[in-house]
Formats: sequence, structure tokens, C-alpha cells
Amino acid sequence: MNGFRNFMVGRYGTDQLTVALLIVGMILTFIGNAFNLYLITMITYVIFFACIYRLMSKNILARQKENNKFLQYWNPSKTWLKAKYNVIKSSKDYKYFKCPNCKQELRVPRGKGKIAVTCKKCGTKFIQKS
Ligand SMILES: [Zn+2]
Repeated sequence: MNGFRNFMVGRYGTDQLTVALLIVGMILTFIGNAFNLYLITMITYVIFFACIYRLMSKNILARQKENNKFLQYWNPSKTWLKAKYNVIKSSKDYKYFKCPNCKQELRVPRGKGKIAVTCKKCGTKFIQKS
């Protein structure tokens, strides 16, 4: 174990990008095996090689730059995915719709019949079935 620790000294190790690549690699491995797609299997080898390369890399600055670039795109996507997930999770209790004037996403509790809604963003008043 000490030998391994010495070997890893000064190397980059894992970050969010490596973990994301591993997950994509695993999904592609599954798809490649399920549908016997040789090309996808080849791509997964490249992805796993990139993971190992990033883990072992001593050019920490370059790896951090790559990770920051990845996070620049990933963080907004994560926020969007979380919002969509919350909509699905609460769609039993809330009805979601867009304001007819400004397209702002709004929600009302379900099962209240027809109710008067005032858009929080633009102040438009309209009737909405809940
Ligand atoms: Zn509005």
C-alpha cells in the first residue's frame, strides 16, 4: 500500500470530470454489449484510457483546467436537471404551466378547480384549471 501511495504522490487523482467519464464509459459499455456495437466498445476503451491518463497525470494545472471547463457546462445542466426532476416529483401535487404573456413557468396546487392566477413576473391575470 505504501508503494502505491508513493506512486500516486504528485499525481492528479480523481475529479468530477473523471467520474463523469467513468459513468459515461460504463453506460456506453452497457449499450455496446447489449446491442453488439463494436464501435461503441472501442469508444469506451478510449474513454477509460482517458480516465487512467487523467488519474496518473502529473500535469495538475492542465487537468484542473479541463475539469473547470467541464464544470462550466456541467453545473448549469445539473441545475436544469434538478429543476426538471423536482417538476416530475411534485407533478402529483402541483400543476405546471407557462404564463401566456411572458412564458414564465408557474405552478398551482392541483384539484382546486378553475382559479385566478397572477403571474409573479409580469403581473398578468388569467384563469387556469388546476
Ligand atoms: Zn407572466
